[in-house]
Amino acid sequence: MVKKTEHGPERLPDRSDFIKWYNSLLELAEIADRSYPVKGTFVWMPYGMQLMKNIVAILDRAFQEHGIEETQFPLFVPMEFAKQNENWFEGFKDEAFYTAEKELLLRPTGEPAMYPIFKLWIKKGKMPIKIYETISSYRNESKTTHTLIRDREITFWHEIHTVHKTRDESLEEADTHKAIYDSLWIDALNIPPISVSKPKYEIFAGAESAYEFYTILPDGRLLENGSINNLGQAYAKKFDLYIDNNGSKEYVWQVCTGNGARTIAAVISIHGDDKGLVVPPKIAPLHIVIIPVFNAETEGRIKADAHRLMERLKDSGLAARVDESDASPGEKFNIWELKGVPIRIEIGMKELEGDFYTLFRRDTCKKEKVEKLAIIETAKKLIQKNIPENLIEKAAQRYKNVIKYVFSIEEAKIWISSGGVAKANWCEDENCFDSISAIAPSVEAVGTLTDEEKEGVCIVCGKKSKKLTLFGRTY
Ligand SMILES: [Zn+2]
Repeated sequence: MVKKTEHGPERLPDRSDFIKWYNSLLELAEIADRSYPVKGTFVWMPYGMQLMKNIVAILDRAFQEHGIEETQFPLFVPMEFAKQNENWFEGFKDEAFYTAEKELLLRPTGEPAMYPIFKLWIKKGKMPIKIYETISSYRNESKTTHTLIRDREITFWHEIHTVHKTRDESLEEADTHKAIYDSLWIDALNIPPISVSKPKYEIFAGAESAYEFYTILPDGRLLENGSINNLGQAYAKKFDLYIDNNGSKEYVWQVCTGNGARTIAAVISIHGDDKGLVVPPKIAPLHIVIIPVFNAETEGRIKADAHRLMERLKDSGLAARVDESDASPGEKFNIWELKGVPIRIEIGMKELEGDFYTLFRRDTCKKEKVEKLAIIETAKKLIQKNIPENLIEKAAQRYKNVIKYVFSIEEAKIWISSGGVAKANWCEDENCFDSISAIAPSVEAVGTLTDEEKEGVCIVCGKKSKKLTLFGRTY
């Protein structure tokens, strides 16, 4: 049920206060119940759960199409496994949750649980290994938590781990993972992907390379949203993962890739507006809601027509339902706009007797009359083509407005403090990275853009470079 005040459904606060708007929308659209009394956790509500499960299903299909099989490892990690790679342990020891005797920790990431078992699998000749799991991960965050953005229980965390005989095979695998994520962002979530390659000093010691995906939230903060780590042989050497080639050890090559429910945080905040969610059709639990508008005399006929239309829409592969609740038509409009259902069809007396239906698009908030004969084809085209295209174009335009190419640190400071994200040439040197990240609290240079280059000079040291970095405040 949508929360009600004396004067109808509770209203969304203005989007200028992003976190207030975001938290309120999570509750009103029934994505999450944030009243659970443990910091950094929440309850997934049925509508949010359906949205998330639709994303999980898309990823499941994509992973399995690429021969990556689903598994599930235990949440408990024995301390001896956790300490096997001391770099990993140093990185996570302060953020991990432990059992009372400190014999076990709750997994912050999968490597130490999986790799000792991979060693046994490799011995049995199971190569290459290409597996994933979708579970919760746990981190005792010292930073402020924000639902779905920074949780202590990170839900629906998927993690791919692959093991290869050759470096080339691992490089190819990492590119495949990047293509899967690119396609998720574009085709399913309708958000232009921004990916960066991490500088060497920012990745695991001994790893080959890493890509990270970023989204930009309405408050101008960069949110890391997925990472692909080509671990090289760094972990193989720590966990002794090798193939015996006539008595000589050949260490294997590994890739690990992961992201969690943060995808939903991006979808909500990037597509959402003053009325609520705008759900991309590919992940929408419901594509079309039909609202019958009737009085005592017309109720039977109008409801019958609404049901006939619903059945036809369903037959054509669209998720449709008739809202027959006791709420008034106006309240129903508000509720479904809040939940971001892509299309609403209204059927009143005019529609019943005329040759058209009234159709409302959530992404444009425009109503149009659609001939009854064309309603199925029109709805299908909107769901499959026009709405996703419009969403991605709007998001791309917003990114264009918020990201500014800057020539100086001073210019960057002003732009970032006004809620923008800066882009500049940089030489990829560690000192310059540190200088950029020092311009203001929580500002960070996130890495080298993978899909864009420009002739210029490093914004810090003046050295010639074609490489660009994004920088701004991060979560
Ligand atoms: Zn430089």
